[in-house]
Amino acid sequence: MQSYYSASKNIDIAQASLRNEVSADICVIGGGYTGLSTALYLAKNGINVVVLEANTIASGASGANGGQISGGMRRDQIHLEKTLGKAVAKTLWVIGERAKDHAKTLIDDHQIECDYKNGIAHPNHKQKYCDESKAYVEHLNKHYDCSDIVYAGDDQMRTLTGSEAYFGGSYDRAQAHCHPLNYALGIAKAALNNGANIYENSAVNSYHLKNGKMRVLTANGAVNAERVVLACNGYLENLEPKLTSKILPMNNYIVATKPLADDMVEKINPEDIAFADSRFVVNYFRLSADKRLLFGGGENYSQNLSNNIVPIVTKPMEKIYPFLKGIQIDYAWGGKLAITLNRLPFFKTLHSGKVLSAQGYSGQGVALASFAGKIIADKICDVGDMFDTMANIPTPSFPGGRLLRSSSMKIGMAYYALLDRI
Ligand SMILES: Cc1cc2nc3c(=O)[nH]c(=O)nc-3n(C[C@H](O)[C@H](O)[C@H](O)COP(=O)(O)OP(=O)(O)OC[C@H]3O[C@@H](n4cnc5c(N)ncnc54)[C@H](O)[C@@H]3O)c2cc1C
Repeated sequence: MQSYYSASKNIDIAQASLRNEVSADICVIGGGYTGLSTALYLAKNGINVVVLEANTIASGASGANGGQISGGMRRDQIHLEKTLGKAVAKTLWVIGERAKDHAKTLIDDHQIECDYKNGIAHPNHKQKYCDESKAYVEHLNKHYDCSDIVYAGDDQMRTLTGSEAYFGGSYDRAQAHCHPLNYALGIAKAALNNGANIYENSAVNSYHLKNGKMRVLTANGAVNAERVVLACNGYLENLEPKLTSKILPMNNYIVATKPLADDMVEKINPEDIAFADSRFVVNYFRLSADKRLLFGGGENYSQNLSNNIVPIVTKPMEKIYPFLKGIQIDYAWGGKLAITLNRLPFFKTLHSGKVLSAQGYSGQGVALASFAGKIIADKICDVGDMFDTMANIPTPSFPGGRLLRSSSMKIGMAYYALLDRI
């Protein structure tokens, strides 16, 4: 089934595939938020940049996701303070907040029409989590000068979600949501307008160093470049074996219902915000511009995406909205994201600095991956130190290494998914 996003995209920018040999300063592999924003910022700086995308622009997670523009990192600040110390935790918070603001700046600067709207709430599915959420909101208010986040009590959260399945939780009015594919295509258009070259249907098979330059090979062409940027995230597979034990690809799924009647819209989302709940396997949902419920949830680790997505997602959806049982589902799709063991983005230089890589945003890539492009471009242009700051944070390998990481994680994730239910 097609995705709602591709059915409602507002920019068409088909690009040719690479059919010859070209030279560039930088060759970016991967045409999602990371690769496209890297290309945009490099092109703006007058750098000759080529993007090679295996399929079509934003055909990976960037064109398929929940559209939630979150702040901070995937792990909360209290956990980061405990594990990395207060100073590093603060730096990570600032990077996460800058990433969130950067998404809005990109949208404004390039007039990207992507239904940007403010507000994400995090409802708790268990009463016992509420005290912790309240304390966390107070912590952010007090120690991070963050006044946009408030605690919504049980009644308020039930009004916001229109669901009896939730208790209270946090509500951040500065976080946002958008049409993720139109956001990505807007970045691609801006990159092209600034002189970047993008080749679609140009999967990179390998790269190597030859005569001091990186030679990047596709089936029908090659790019000779000073440096390579790896921006493949959940789709990296074995292209760079040095990275594969550090990130774990994971499939996640979304459905779109038929457009809802006005009274249903008013009942389930009167403020038109996005939600991401407290489950380990997070349920996330919001309305589309044409008032469909876009509901995401359910994940697995198989090589290929499931070809039977609807039951995977409608099961949790009907627990939260029993009155939507049996509603017509018009679209169902999925994508691959990449997580790291510490749930922090993984930045690294490889091959004596000839290859720069950023992946593993752990479900927070709408803001972080598009900001990663700026961080990478700044590193290449020798301005800013955020790449090194991130690269200096140790990223542990998954237990079991490259071959067994999936099975060991499956066991761990199954355990936490079970805790969600009891
Ligand atoms: C269903 C789903 C829901 C999500 N919801 C959210 C959310 O609400 N909020 C949030 O912040 N994050 C969310 N995420 C995560 C977010 O989408 C990603 O973190 C982000 O899109 C990563 O961007 P990227 O550019 O690094 O990777 P991608 O967008 O995946 O792009 C990587 C690209 O590399 C290409 N590629 C791979 N190998 C090669 C090769 N050898 N040669 C050429 N090209 C190659 C792929 O085709 C792909 O287009 C979600 C992800 C999924 C799947």
